[in-house]
Amino acid sequence: MREILKGNIIDTLALGQLRVREQGYLLLEDGCIRGVCDSVPEDWADAAVHDYGDGLIMQSFADMHLHGPQYPMLGMGMDLPLMDWLDTYTFPVEARFADLDYARRTYRRLASDLITNGTTRVCMFSSLHTDATWILMEELEKAGVTGYVGKVNMDRNGKPGVLQEETEESIRETLRWLDGCHFEHIKPILTPRFTISCTDELMAALGRIARERGLYVQSHLSENDQEIAFTHELHPDTQRYWETYDKFGLWKDHTLMAHCVWSDEVERRAIRDAGVVVVHCADSNTNICSGVCPVKRMLDEGLQVTLGSDIAGGAQLPMYKVIAATIRTSKTRRMLDNWQSDFLTVEEGYYLGTTAGHRYFGAGEGFATGDKLHAIVINDWDFPETAKPLSVQQRFERAIYMTHRHNIVSVWSEGREVVHRD
Ligand SMILES: [Zn+2]
Repeated sequence: MREILKGNIIDTLALGQLRVREQGYLLLEDGCIRGVCDSVPEDWADAAVHDYGDGLIMQSFADMHLHGPQYPMLGMGMDLPLMDWLDTYTFPVEARFADLDYARRTYRRLASDLITNGTTRVCMFSSLHTDATWILMEELEKAGVTGYVGKVNMDRNGKPGVLQEETEESIRETLRWLDGCHFEHIKPILTPRFTISCTDELMAALGRIARERGLYVQSHLSENDQEIAFTHELHPDTQRYWETYDKFGLWKDHTLMAHCVWSDEVERRAIRDAGVVVVHCADSNTNICSGVCPVKRMLDEGLQVTLGSDIAGGAQLPMYKVIAATIRTSKTRRMLDNWQSDFLTVEEGYYLGTTAGHRYFGAGEGFATGDKLHAIVINDWDFPETAKPLSVQQRFERAIYMTHRHNIVSVWSEGREVVHRD
């Protein structure tokens, strides 16, 4: 089937490079992009047209790090640093997901909130619970969200009797979970919570499973000073945190590492050389006082950087708000660096929240020919009247900072329109 999206088309092909096409046409064939152009080619005259008028057709967002079972604690309990925050607030909330009705209700709401805010791709942590993890995957798939979800592994330093597995149980349940994943657009990813939570035996087993089944890995790295010190105590033979993953075959191409706030030059080089992908979580890093990550420096050094809402350390699920928080935080970094480092521009923030994430899933740059369409349409009609008429690029900047969910009138995921508001 041939379809055309008509409106102001804004995508980003590389960091800081924005492509704006006023009143352009995006050609779609069976959900795949066939081109972006100024007029309709003759042989497309019969295609169905989705006319979004003066709306902004933008790329949808990729949230590369968030915790599904922390959604119930969104916007609460951010008065403690990481390790106390996990023990006091997070583990008891995640334990609730042994209750499958509760999991169903929570995950249905989360999936709906993600897609209606324009997030069409995710890499998400579930809890320890195999059955609740399948429910999360099913609800995301039903809503039109695509990507990876991981059942969390944790056989030490959790809350024994409340939220912790035995080693054998963790391995067995991981295999049972993997064998039961039959979703079209939501795939499994191995998810050791972090080094502190997993014995060497468990980490070795996960490394083996990753290799045998060709699975990707997601975890946390160098988020907070106490966490780093404790990790070093558990692995006194290592110099740096990243080596505790490398030891077990978990440090490889496509491994996602959230935070990396305190990764030094040597660790950052190890990230780059292995093809590990950084997930920068600006809102969470500030909320629980983890630190101010030098993102701009990471980009200058050639690391792959993506963005995550990291709910519920992060308190904002919509990625347009996460992008704005990322830009603000990069300015804080600049002030801390005595104005020696550059901050991120809006165009750069948009790239990190869209193309940088989509590439993880094999997509090209921007609205690339051959890719399934992942897009949103923003209607900014109810933003305050400006002093002078705005260019499309100025409207784009305002949309990043000022969009609310109701402004997103259409969402396309994997080539299908999954949200439509009149
Ligand atoms: Zn996290």
